[in-house]
Amino acid sequence: MTGETQLRYFNLGLVGSPDPNTYLAWRVSLITANGPWTLYVDANTGAVLARQSHSRNSFDLDLEDGLHGGPHEYFCWAFWSSDQWFDEYGVMGGANPDAEGYAAYNNIRTVYDFWSETLQRDSYDDDGAEIDMYIHVGNPWRQAWYTTWCDQFEFGDGFAADLDVVGHEFTHGVVENTSQLEYEYESGALDESFADVFAHLLIRTIGLWVRVWHRFTGGTWLIHISRAGATRTI
Ligand SMILES: [Zn+2]
Repeated sequence: MTGETQLRYFNLGLVGSPDPNTYLAWRVSLITANGPWTLYVDANTGAVLARQSHSRNSFDLDLEDGLHGGPHEYFCWAFWSSDQWFDEYGVMGGANPDAEGYAAYNNIRTVYDFWSETLQRDSYDDDGAEIDMYIHVGNPWRQAWYTTWCDQFEFGDGFAADLDVVGHEFTHGVVENTSQLEYEYESGALDESFADVFAHLLIRTIGLWVRVWHRFTGGTWLIHISRAGATRTI
């Protein structure tokens, strides 16, 4: 067993079972030879109500070249021109990604695997959500972000090639799907802090490094990430 065992109300109908009943259940996380699993165990009878695999198989990706359009924070990317380069299995037939595309693919896989294997979380929503990722966004756009409106990850030129940036933005997706911190003032600073901390844990876990510092200026906050001489404010 791993992680925190939690007592929850669990409705089988909501996860596709013909049984519509709600049960008081223990949510138990396990590491097995077949990867990480979550079990829901009836707190009254001990029966296993449901089991979920958190193996790499749940990795679900749509990585596209934004063709220097956007960023599109509110009108989501489905309406704009882009080229799909990768899905969860790798490069798409007929696609011709550049080096940054391959780096972005490797980075988001690494981030997904870190959250799955180290933290037993299945994608940013812990429910296997497809990761919609757009690179080469804006012209120029020295930025990257997770859009809560569209549930999409957007990266300006160069940013998706940095693992720490991908890890940081993915964490914003986790925060939005857990605590939904308002992105302003102190709660926004907490949001940024969580993103920095988990990006740092990711980098530490796989043996790279990132340097992060925060600067508070009269009620606003600035966060800088530095790596290989590049600094950005996020
Ligand atoms: Zn951020």
